[in-house]
Amino acid sequence: MSQSQTAIEESLARPLKTLSEEEKMFRDSVREFAEGEIRRRVAEMEEQGHLDPSLMKQCFELGLMGIETPEDYGGSGGSFFQAILAVEELSRVDASVGVFVDVQNTLVNNALLRWGNPQQHKKYLPQLASEKVGAYALSEAGSGSDAFGLQTRAVDGGDYFTLNGRKLWITNGKEAEIFVLFANANPEAGYRGITAFIVEESFAGFSVGKKENKLGIRASSTTELILEDCQVPKENVLGETGKGYKVSIETLNEGRIGIGAQMIGIATGALEAALAYTAEREQFGKTVNEFQGVQFQLAEMATELEAARLMVYNAARMKEAGENFVKEAAMAKLYSSRAAERITSRAIELYGGYGYVKDYPVEKYWRDSKIGAIYEGTSNMQLQTIAKQVLKL
Ligand SMILES: Cc1cc2nc3c(=O)[nH]c(=O)nc-3n(C[C@H](O)[C@H](O)[C@H](O)COP(=O)(O)OP(=O)(O)OC[C@H]3O[C@@H](n4cnc5c(N)ncnc54)[C@H](O)[C@@H]3O)c2cc1C
Repeated sequence: MSQSQTAIEESLARPLKTLSEEEKMFRDSVREFAEGEIRRRVAEMEEQGHLDPSLMKQCFELGLMGIETPEDYGGSGGSFFQAILAVEELSRVDASVGVFVDVQNTLVNNALLRWGNPQQHKKYLPQLASEKVGAYALSEAGSGSDAFGLQTRAVDGGDYFTLNGRKLWITNGKEAEIFVLFANANPEAGYRGITAFIVEESFAGFSVGKKENKLGIRASSTTELILEDCQVPKENVLGETGKGYKVSIETLNEGRIGIGAQMIGIATGALEAALAYTAEREQFGKTVNEFQGVQFQLAEMATELEAARLMVYNAARMKEAGENFVKEAAMAKLYSSRAAERITSRAIELYGGYGYVKDYPVEKYWRDSKIGAIYEGTSNMQLQTIAKQVLKL
């Protein structure tokens, strides 16, 4: 049995939330980074609407941008579960840093590791682990839930494809230098024409458009991408031509667990803040956490968070064990995003008026939680996936 198989066997013998020594050490190191380096920068990054470049650099230096990438390619040689722990811990302090690391690992690196050929691995994985930010570009103005209706076109020109079209809502769009981007190379074949490409920011005809002004995760960039006769070498087709739909579906199935991790991180941050505040705030001559009404609210929040965390960890462990995790990943994202919204909203109420202003952290947690019901498939799309599995459609 290989070392990683042994590690998976051992993890299955443990209660879901009990971490191995290695996982614990990894989680603690990410927590230390989040507490020591991220927390003091959160308010300013939120205000300015971008990530601090020195933090992004530290994410690379700490190995957080190539968690599952093998050490031979300059990565950390870690596990998917560790990537989930990283996203959770970062999001507990700042969900923008959480999604920055999440997209790099669960979407970009994952797609390359799974679908890339040896030359692509050799060329791109080391860059993504050490210095270059990646982004995942599927959505367009007219195709979100109906992702396969994308209008970006790729025309075969011999040694290269010429890409034309626009992508919208691309996380890390401003910082990224390497894009996993989807275009249709054979529109007559419908979704079977969709092809995944590795596009570099430096390719002629590629540019980054407008940056969105968002409700939450404000320090995370979300941009438009413009492709005007962008020439992409044929060796940059990721997987097979016409199999991009498979690349996108299967990557997003895994990515959803990462969004679940982001949501439980946000909810943990909000619950911790509410526990601390209600232990200090006095009304009627007592701290407010002495009132049973408040205690029950905190208990509800903790219970929902526990359920969400178990679902996210279970989906991640199932993926690692090689089981079919599609339903569980959709359920984990659906439930954890709803739980995060409820927990953060309740945290605001427990802060009273102070919860409604930007001097305290909880209003941001609430705004940040909302995205969980939208990206990587809206809640309705998760319900559709779950229904298909439950009803065997
Ligand atoms: C901050 C942010 C970051 C993002 N990052 C990325 C990224 O990095 N890469 C990327 O490719 N995309 C990204 N997205 C895009 C995101 O994945 C889409 O916004 C999402 O898939 C929804 O698509 P839409 O916005 O077009 O909504 P629509 O698909 O138009 O949906 C509108 C409403 O209709 C509902 N609906 C649609 N179809 C159905 C149906 N068949 N049954 C029931 N209800 C339905 C939806 O649930 C929703 O409530 C990001 C979006 C945001 C806001």
